[in-house]
Amino acid sequence: MAQNVAGFMENVTAKNPSEVEFHQAVVEVVESIWPVLDKRPEYRKAKILERVTEPERVIMFRVPWVDDSGEVQVNRGFRIEMNSAIGPYKGGLRFHPSVNLGILKFLAFEQVFKNSLTTLPMGGGKGGSDFDPKGKSDLEVMRFTQSFMSELFRHIGPNTDVPAGDIGVGGREIGFMFGQYKKLRNEFTGILTGKGLNWGGSLIRPEATGYGAVYFSANMLQTRNETLEGKTCLVSGSGNVAQYAIEKLLDLGAKPVTCSDSGGYIYDEAGIDREKLAFIMELKNVKRGRVSEYAEKFSSAVYTPVNRDMDHNPLWDHKADCAYPCATQNEVNAVDAANLLKNGVYVISEGANMPTVPEGVNLFVDAKILYGPGKAANAGGVAVSGLEMSQNSMRYNWTREEVDQKLLGIMKSIHDSSVAAANEFGTPGNYVNGANIAGFVKIADSMLDQGVV
Ligand code: NDP
Repeated sequence: MAQNVAGFMENVTAKNPSEVEFHQAVVEVVESIWPVLDKRPEYRKAKILERVTEPERVIMFRVPWVDDSGEVQVNRGFRIEMNSAIGPYKGGLRFHPSVNLGILKFLAFEQVFKNSLTTLPMGGGKGGSDFDPKGKSDLEVMRFTQSFMSELFRHIGPNTDVPAGDIGVGGREIGFMFGQYKKLRNEFTGILTGKGLNWGGSLIRPEATGYGAVYFSANMLQTRNETLEGKTCLVSGSGNVAQYAIEKLLDLGAKPVTCSDSGGYIYDEAGIDREKLAFIMELKNVKRGRVSEYAEKFSSAVYTPVNRDMDHNPLWDHKADCAYPCATQNEVNAVDAANLLKNGVYVISEGANMPTVPEGVNLFVDAKILYGPGKAANAGGVAVSGLEMSQNSMRYNWTREEVDQKLLGIMKSIHDSSVAAANEFGTPGNYVNGANIAGFVKIADSMLDQGVV
């Protein structure tokens, strides 16, 4: 076993060359849990850390399909089955041209600890493809997803591995994949979550990640006897997570003023109200249009296109109280982090996975603001996926209120266990350490119980 974090990371980097996002995710966890290893030598002896950084299984496969013009296209499919110590593998599928092995391994690794934090019995996994759904017809998306599932189906199952959505995978894609699985297996079982309500889905699943990230920020604010009422909030992204973060911010009396897509962002000084949110939802979920159209419709908004020559994203350079990065990994760089602090932002709740670069995370932690890392703050999505699995097993549906109450309770529990672990290991208020440690201990203890497997 390496003697320090740098030594351990040298091995991880040598073994997984060029997987930079995976290295980034691992080093953050390892730094947090090193003091735990000092207290629990049995973890070192059983090489728990070496084992949790090695996927239990990696599946890579060819996904051939035919586009609307009759041309054959070939994409690559993946499923990373990272850790099943506390339950079947669970985690989303991402369809985006940037998808590669390193990105999915980082996501699967984060998922292991996140799922552990939810209190539900779910292991960690992640998968997807470099397929780009943007600009594709519904039929092309259907042909691609059917081909993708024609291989994936042999690796998943309700007690083995239960994928869900992520970037580029929403209700439409889950529907096509579920249909293909059912045809191949001749079996109606809960092998995916995020399903439609008519065929086994859970109420509140689409809303859960965004709602959960806002609940998490409310829990953090509560430690200072504050609420979200009247707070100005910056949100990035305009997909599933961003939309429902904005909705819950409105429910709780806050004022969201931004949202974005990969083309640019809008700043609406008057605030994004319910009517404007309905416009965004229609634009993104039905018309599949661009966020620039928001500024054409509402004169109170200014649209700024992405400028790759800038060293920062101007979305994070507005006066505000709270920020919710809900687009993608590493979207908040060190300059953005400094800008957020300069503009008075003191609550950050990450809807996206690993949206802040390590230098930015350090700035937030050093500034002692209320910083909720994605692993904890966005766990509401997978938590309600876990509730969807339970409902499928029981063949019973909870009401909207029941699921929302359970989500509220789970987010509070994640918050409180992160606070408790941070306190126990001498870093009060550090939700990064807290979430990593609380998630890790349960996994490590379960792995010890189950022997060297
Ligand atoms: P969607 O595909 O619904 O939306 C993604 C949004 O982020 C879009 O607005 C998209 O813009 C933008 N975006 C994606 N990639 C980039 C990029 N490289 N640069 C700039 N903008 C980008 O995905 P979700 O809302 O589901 O996911 C958002 C984040 O939340 C991801 O990090 C995901 O891993 C995380 N997450 C999602 C969960 C879920 O339940 N869905 C659960 C937990 C975490 P455009 O349309 O132009 O590409």
